[in-house]
Amino acid sequence: MRKEYLLTPGPTPLPPQISLAMARPIIHHRTPQFQEVLKEVSLGLKWVFQTNNDVFIISSSGTGAMEAAVANLLSSGDTALVVQGGKFGERWSEIAKSYGIIPEVIDVEWGKSVSCEEIKKKLLANPKIKAVFTTLCETSTGVDNDIAAIGAVLKDTPAVLVVDAISGLGAVDIKTDIWGVDVVVSGSQKGLMLPPGLGFICVSPKAWKLVEASKSPRYYLDLRKAKKAFDKNDTPFTSSITLIIALNEALKMMKSDGLEYIFKRHKTMADATRAAMKALGLELFAPTAASDGVTAVKVPQGVDGEKLVKTMRDTYGVTIAGGQDELKGKVFRIAHMGFIAESDIITALACLEKVLTQMGYKFDLGASVKAAESVFLKQ
Ligand SMILES: *Cc1c(COP(=O)(O)O)cnc(C)c1O
Repeated sequence: MRKEYLLTPGPTPLPPQISLAMARPIIHHRTPQFQEVLKEVSLGLKWVFQTNNDVFIISSSGTGAMEAAVANLLSSGDTALVVQGGKFGERWSEIAKSYGIIPEVIDVEWGKSVSCEEIKKKLLANPKIKAVFTTLCETSTGVDNDIAAIGAVLKDTPAVLVVDAISGLGAVDIKTDIWGVDVVVSGSQKGLMLPPGLGFICVSPKAWKLVEASKSPRYYLDLRKAKKAFDKNDTPFTSSITLIIALNEALKMMKSDGLEYIFKRHKTMADATRAAMKALGLELFAPTAASDGVTAVKVPQGVDGEKLVKTMRDTYGVTIAGGQDELKGKVFRIAHMGFIAESDIITALACLEKVLTQMGYKFDLGASVKAAESVFLKQ
């Protein structure tokens, strides 16, 4: 027998109510019954995205929604500004290039957030930039970018602001309309507490003009098709019925908590995790712009980072994430997004301490648990 704990930045654990909603017999999607669900979900999505614009649902993981943003907004030969400061910022460039779009890149040092001055400078220097692609929570480094400030920079420019909030949505604040974010993309398996399989995208009226003008090839991801169906309370192809029913449950749970409480809870989990790492003498990878969704920690000298993550998972059933690409073996990441409670954090910390001790790293046993509990007690 083994009990499993999942503290990764996607997928995240499923609340039992959501698992049970998915166990119900399937219904047909072209029915008044399902249309009722879609209606509720559409309102719930607007609420969680903090927008009055339509939020379209795509049957894909989050990357499908990213690709939908690129394909629908721009055409081959267009120029876009891309903020790269980790694996997911880089993904924007890769998708853009595959559509013949020229990415003008801001290479942010991994572990740092982007400087708005830099964005302003690039926009002034190149008036051909039609869109700025950035990331709310750069999951690979545990950094949040200041989307409100970027929105303010773009406000009086013709460029549209596109934000990957795949891991950020439902974990940290994004005031889409108020901050002037034109397009937000997200996915189901992170802050929304669902299995993977749904992508989301909302589009402002300013960005919709680009959707109509884009010459990029698109069929399944054509947002014009999505809008036509949406206006009839439908989806253009077979809906991901089960996942959408589960989404409805998730949104109801989130509504009963309220966004403010949700963000505060994430902050508490993050504060506790960060305090715990300091108590172990470990260094945060992103000390200046740390996200409340996921904490990246430098692997201490003499410890095999990959083995640490593997032992926690395979021997003790506690799954955290390792580093990606250039951070492989150099960091581990504890995610505290979605359905994560104090007890999950305490369990993960105790397991981390056990394995670090076995690997020869020296600290006061119990120090991280104590530090986390002190944060929780102050709430
Ligand atoms: C997880 C994640 C993605 C990728 O989403 P998939 O669902 O794996 O396609 C993209 N961007 C960010 C910031 C993420 O955290």
